[in-house]
Amino acid sequence: MLNIAIVGAAGRMGRTLISCVHAADDLTLAGAVAEPGAPELEQDAGVLVEGGGLVDVQITDNTAQGVRSAHAAIDFTLPTALKATLQACVSEGTPLVVGTTGLVDAHLVALREAAQVIPIVYARNMSVGVNVFMELVRRGAEALGQDYDVEISEAHHRHKVDAPSGTALALGELVAEARGGRLDSLGVYTRQGQVGPREAGSIGFSVIRAGNIVGEHTVMFASEDERLELTHRAADRAVFAKGALRAARWVAGRAPGLYTMADVLGFRSPAE
Ligand code: NAD
Repeated sequence: MLNIAIVGAAGRMGRTLISCVHAADDLTLAGAVAEPGAPELEQDAGVLVEGGGLVDVQITDNTAQGVRSAHAAIDFTLPTALKATLQACVSEGTPLVVGTTGLVDAHLVALREAAQVIPIVYARNMSVGVNVFMELVRRGAEALGQDYDVEISEAHHRHKVDAPSGTALALGELVAEARGGRLDSLGVYTRQGQVGPREAGSIGFSVIRAGNIVGEHTVMFASEDERLELTHRAADRAVFAKGALRAARWVAGRAPGLYTMADVLGFRSPAE
């Protein structure tokens, strides 16, 4: 059995992860970490999922204690919580899967530092389908070249706090790289009023936030003669949890390093 600790256990992804751990024959919940002050603290982690029953794991806000007996920890929280998770996993020697999005350069530096001591899988989208989708987009961008305008659109539920989504940005980065550029200079994130004609080579983003949309991404390649659209739709957030658990199985016992879902799935993608 593989012991799994969930950091951000009381969140939407945390609860889904706990359900998926329950459903898996080879996994046991060994730790559940919630935010300091969370109403669920000190309760049995079974309360976090419908019909879960008692699992004999107390929800804690002490991350080091929460990840201590785990073969792998999984963090789906907020960027502000990442530092504490990294410190705890480094001090306890616990391999880590990070699914939290909205990370900026300082977080990535911290991830790389921690990855010198423990193995870490970081992916802004853990879905296996999305990672295959990214590979197809990369190949499309390489083959179609600069004559095709690229527009990326994404839609998510009303609770999502960062935009564009980490996945949309990852798609933009891989298109930019495939064309020999950088998203920093090519990305266009807002258009309003007299914005003028489209700048050649730019990569446009559109964002929808509505209802309970789990996650949708489309990459459009458009020339004057034809249009190719690649779309991925997630139907249930369990898809991210299942991917994160696949990453947790893979990262347990690995050598220190910063890995991606491309490593987990056996192909490398320049997206991450
Ligand atoms: P959520 O707001 O429902 O859950 C986040 C949880 O983290 C909350 O319960 C919050 O209390 C908790 N938290 C905050 N600080 C904490 C701390 N210091 N210690 C422990 N817990 C803490 O959000 P969500 O929908 O579950 O998403 C969480 C993150 O995962 C977001 O960044 C989201 O974008 C990302 N996400 C990534 C993927 C992926 O495939 N990589 C998929 C879905 C969501």
